[in-house]
Amino acid sequence: MKKFFYQCAHCSFKAEYTKLIGACPKCGGEWLDPLYNLEETAALWQTALPERDHTIWRYWELLPLRNQQNIVSLGEGWTPLLQIENMGAMLGNRHIFVKDERQGPTASFKDRQASLAISAMKEADIKEAVVASTGNVAISYSAYCARSGIKLWAFLDSDVPHEKMREVTLYGTEVIKVSSNYDTTKQIAAKFADYRNLFLDKGIKSLIAREAMKTLAFEVAEQLGRIRSTRWAAPDWYIQAVSGGMGPIGVWRGFKDLYDMKLIDKIPKIAIIQTEGCAPMVNSFHKGLDVVEVVHNPTSVINVLATGNPGPAYPFLRQLVLSSGGAFSKVDDQESFRAMRVMAQLEGISMEPAAAVACAGLVKLVQDQVIKPHETVVVNASGHTFPIEKQILESEIVKRHTRVQNIDGEAVAIMEPDVTPIRQEGLINALKRLDEKVQSVAIIEDEPDARLLLRRILQYERKYKIYEAADGASGMALIQSKKPDLVLLDLMMPEVDGFTVLDTMKANEQLRDIPVIVITAKDLTSQDHQRLSGRIESLLQKGEFMEDQLVESISDVLK
Ligand SMILES: *Cc1c(COP(=O)(O)O)cnc(C)c1O
Ligand SMILES: [Zn+2]
Repeated sequence: MKKFFYQCAHCSFKAEYTKLIGACPKCGGEWLDPLYNLEETAALWQTALPERDHTIWRYWELLPLRNQQNIVSLGEGWTPLLQIENMGAMLGNRHIFVKDERQGPTASFKDRQASLAISAMKEADIKEAVVASTGNVAISYSAYCARSGIKLWAFLDSDVPHEKMREVTLYGTEVIKVSSNYDTTKQIAAKFADYRNLFLDKGIKSLIAREAMKTLAFEVAEQLGRIRSTRWAAPDWYIQAVSGGMGPIGVWRGFKDLYDMKLIDKIPKIAIIQTEGCAPMVNSFHKGLDVVEVVHNPTSVINVLATGNPGPAYPFLRQLVLSSGGAFSKVDDQESFRAMRVMAQLEGISMEPAAAVACAGLVKLVQDQVIKPHETVVVNASGHTFPIEKQILESEIVKRHTRVQNIDGEAVAIMEPDVTPIRQEGLINALKRLDEKVQSVAIIEDEPDARLLLRRILQYERKYKIYEAADGASGMALIQSKKPDLVLLDLMMPEVDGFTVLDTMKANEQLRDIPVIVITAKDLTSQDHQRLSGRIESLLQKGEFMEDQLVESISDVLK
């Protein structure tokens, strides 16, 4: 177990980090930063690092997770650092590199954030989570949640392209499409999480997101070091297309850590590139404002960068650029599309429009001589163009998402494919009504892995409210208090076993009619069969059924 501390940026309160926390216990401030032992880590990394796996987790000592067993990984990180020779020759700078984040497990640099965030949720024993997204976070979180059995509710704004929604849906995430912009979508997601009492991912406000992005800096410094045969090396510039600002803040912190560890001798200047149609940070910086001027209606078609209100990220980045150099710059959509074509045609790198914004920014900064010909530049190629296989999952997506609409200032839920809005009702009332229709299933099973698998299968079917108990006695208590519509029962459990649970249920007038499906690893004797006969709906042998068989038995019982 790793021991480390955190500190509140507002009041400097310090305490040991024990689990994922949202705010400072002393002043309620949301900006917390972890404190690690940098000196010890610097010494350790000199010898240990070359032996380690090439994922973000090679930097384990400086990531905010306590137990390595909680890592949820799909091999994220250690993406290539590619030299951009043709474009470099064109621009007259031979030291331009692209950090190819398209090569992450879900094709964007959000995989770093997702891997750490879902691992932290696992460590905090969170089973269900809510996230708001312009697309890429939802895709990435969906993959990692699927892998770890966490149920995810993804709230997407109205401009998220179909291809991305389909990708989210494929992972089994519950998709809620909000007929409004990203900032409103975030508010509705927060309201929903609050009402359901679910964990809300706070994005850049959480230390997790910023810490995850540090790994980009560590990798760049290691990779550039290899190229220069110096072990570690920092570029002069880091350039990124910016929406919420998590990337540049995290990357800066990563370089700052390395600098404090005396592994590099400078911290790169950060260039923040935004689109003309949504450039709150760039505009506010050029107006000399220290608080951001919010963009209420982003007009760029590049929806991934649609954060109109970046909140505290702006003053932080402004301070950084003022004190250590860097740049705030904006490009329009057309310039970005052009950069997208140039990168594809000259370098063989096809990136999504949001990522191309950074390349358009690079061109501009070099041409304006903000970036000098001898300076080394790393551009974040933050996401891939999405493969389009339109036909295949089209019907799936229609069937599987909920829309939320703002009517006269009130959010209204619409379940697809039943497209009649439930008018006169706010979101919360509409959700309550939906809840009443949802059937509940209790899983009584002592093996955590088996419990998780059952939960996962049911979650994917998504109609059910799921309760869990890890032994017969608490299972009985659960059945008594919740009166579920169905019980999934394991037979072999220590102390109170499944047979006893079944006997107790059948002896109770109120519980006797609740249907039971038995799932067992036990080879049943004829005596066992007799004890079950006529009292259960079906019997499934562990390890011998596919999920559709389970789902079928369940819907047979519950229809
Ligand atoms: C999220 C995202 C960005 C913006 O990231 P922030 O650092 O949070 O501003 C840029 N490009 C792509 C492809 C993204 O997914
Ligand atoms: Zn505080």
